[in-house]
Amino acid sequence: MSTIFKKIIDKEIPANIVYEDNDFVAFRDINPQAKVHILVIPKKEIVNLNEASDEDALMLGKLQILIAKIAKDEGIADDGYRVILNVNKDGGQEVFHIHYHILGGEKIGVLNS
Ligand code: C5P
Repeated sequence: MSTIFKKIIDKEIPANIVYEDNDFVAFRDINPQAKVHILVIPKKEIVNLNEASDEDALMLGKLQILIAKIAKDEGIADDGYRVILNVNKDGGQEVFHIHYHILGGEKIGVLNS
């Protein structure tokens, strides 16, 4: 089932997009948890990491390289940042289209705080 992120990909709803190519979109989180909070998603609709398969391996590898590029472009790479991937209920996943959070621009607190 499609999610709100599919609507962002299809430009049916607005988002503050910082990067886009044929395979990925990155946009600022509407409810930022840090000075820099960006979500990176593949255009392919994958529910979460549990649903990723071997055929997604190259794409997901590219996504991680893209995360580092975005962090550099945002000027947060040297000081550092955190990457979070939430899976299902206990992981706190709310949108069921796989997405990676990039959090930075300030010291990120301990997990689960
Ligand atoms: O990992 P999780 O599913 O909890 O994160 C979903 C994230 O998507 C939230 O941080 C929320 O603020 C963000 N979001 C967004 N734009 C939307 C809907 C949700 O940035 N239109």
